Amino acid sequence: MFLNMKKIVAVEVFLISTILLFSSCSKSKDIKSFEAMNTFMTLQSYGSKSKKANLAVENRIRELEDSISTTKEHSYIYDLNNSSNKEIELPQDIYDLLSFSLNISKESNGALNIALYPITSAWGFTTGNYRVPAKEELEDLLKFTDFSKIQLLDNRKVKLADGMKIDFGAIGKGFAGDEAIQILREQGVKSAILDLGGNVQVLGAKTDGSDWTIGIKNPWGGPVVAGVRIKNQAVITSGGYERYFTGDDGKNYIHIFDGKTGRPVENEIASVSIITESGLYGDALSTTMFVLGLENACKYWKLHQDFEMLIITNDKNLYYTSGLKDKLSLRYDFNNVFIVQ
Ligand code: AMP
Ligand code: MG
Repeated sequence: MFLNMKKIVAVEVFLISTILLFSSCSKSKDIKSFEAMNTFMTLQSYGSKSKKANLAVENRIRELEDSISTTKEHSYIYDLNNSSNKEIELPQDIYDLLSFSLNISKESNGALNIALYPITSAWGFTTGNYRVPAKEELEDLLKFTDFSKIQLLDNRKVKLADGMKIDFGAIGKGFAGDEAIQILREQGVKSAILDLGGNVQVLGAKTDGSDWTIGIKNPWGGPVVAGVRIKNQAVITSGGYERYFTGDDGKNYIHIFDGKTGRPVENEIASVSIITESGLYGDALSTTMFVLGLENACKYWKLHQDFEMLIITNDKNLYYTSGLKDKLSLRYDFNNVFIVQ
């Protein structure tokens, strides 16, 4: 399945020190930074419409956060999570988001499971009060994480079984990226790059017509390890290094969970980056592939082939899908480089 390209030498030299690698010759641009969805976001849009468009994007992202937050009282998801078995009516976009994620959950045999909130909160990832729950506690909580018990009813109504709680942490920022790109387009912006807490999504090309180059972070810190050239696409990464805590036992516990065990995923993947047109699809897949692990992620790609993927393993190997062949420039001395095809 893999083509070994041992120690490919980077042929291109970048100017690299940050995650976003780009330049532009445009005179008119607007940069807007703000905090939303528990992260820091930066919108960089070009052209005379950019300021108004960026403001509209910020407003939409805040509105979205107010709809899907698990902690803001009376967000739709807050109400759903506290509905004690009652039907809750959702707006069309949030209903569609739920339905989309349930499809990927089914498709990935539960690797993506937006009903894991009882588990992620038991470990303290929702509050910052980190702890390692006992095996029995996890076994009890796992009973409330069966996503097949989420009932999508007519007229945009949803019903959760008692004790179930959902969380769009794995896909919310990706969805926000798609919404942002659509608003920018509608407002007449033709070129933009968005950093939504590490999710990078671009509209069009740079103003000189060339591709954007997006840096792939080194999971162990330091300069970026690769650059991916994209247009009208998103590069979305999931990695254990993004959020974790160190237990009393000295072990690191990461924020991405295996829904079968209720424990943080432990496999060979250090980070997985997905390259897609849709930020939502990319975000859903980044988490899904991380949970699936290297072998099953490659099988999933072979079956679907409607996205590109780059996986960095703990033993410092790089695996990337064949569609990235001409899009990738390496900046790191990986032990081995494999092309998935
Ligand atoms: P991401 O950084 O996109 O991979 O999303 C990680 C976030 O998704 C975590 O912080 C949790 O809120 C949530 N999460 C963790 N594990 C899963 C899982 N297996 N399925 C769905 N959501 C998850
Ligand atoms: Mg994700």
